[in-house]
Amino acid sequence: MLPYKSTKFHAVVPLSGGIDSTAALYLSLKNNPDQNFLVYRIQLLNGTSGHRSIREEFATESILLWLEKNGYANFAYRKLSFDYSSLGMMPPVWDSDVVNFVAAVAVHAHPEINRFVEGAIADDFDDPSFAKRLEKIMALFYLAAERSPKDFSFDFPVKEMRKYEVMKALPEELLALTWSCRYPEIGAPYTFDRCHKCPQCKVIDSVLEEHPEMAPFVNESKVEN
Ligand SMILES: [Zn+2]
Repeated sequence: MLPYKSTKFHAVVPLSGGIDSTAALYLSLKNNPDQNFLVYRIQLLNGTSGHRSIREEFATESILLWLEKNGYANFAYRKLSFDYSSLGMMPPVWDSDVVNFVAAVAVHAHPEINRFVEGAIADDFDDPSFAKRLEKIMALFYLAAERSPKDFSFDFPVKEMRKYEVMKALPEELLALTWSCRYPEIGAPYTFDRCHKCPQCKVIDSVLEEHPEMAPFVNESKVEN
């Protein structure tokens, strides 16, 4: 892992520990070995997804360890907590608002950064409101970072891929470390299960219907820590 303060970074990459952001990060590191990436994760405390924060944290730690162990060292990692639970139930703001706002803060700290790696996939654009949401959070970033499309770009390494292709783009071992469910449920002792109800679970479950061989790699109860 690179030192945070002294490294000159090329791009900032949010990592939630889910399949899509992991794939966006993995492909960026792999395809740009001569570039440095500032990876960050936001511990979003929003009152309704406490289990999610915990489970995503497990996933993120394992993913970063896997990347290092497998020779992907061109990144630094920062973690921030953001607690908006005291403002009431969501959405006082959306998670993606916070993700982009924090990217803007990171870019103030490291002004050499001129790219944001966005983990949106083809399935996301099935929702007609998604493009608008993306536009809003990009505008939020540009405003807070005091940047413009002239000197800062958004990179979409997995935008053309459907969920199955995104899953296939990851080494199986790495895919198995990701966590995408929004509302994890308590499983066997010291484990969490996927809820099979949230939008993320539904997309994964529909992939599994067609490709049951992928099941071992989205194992709901696997917590290594
Ligand atoms: Zn779920």
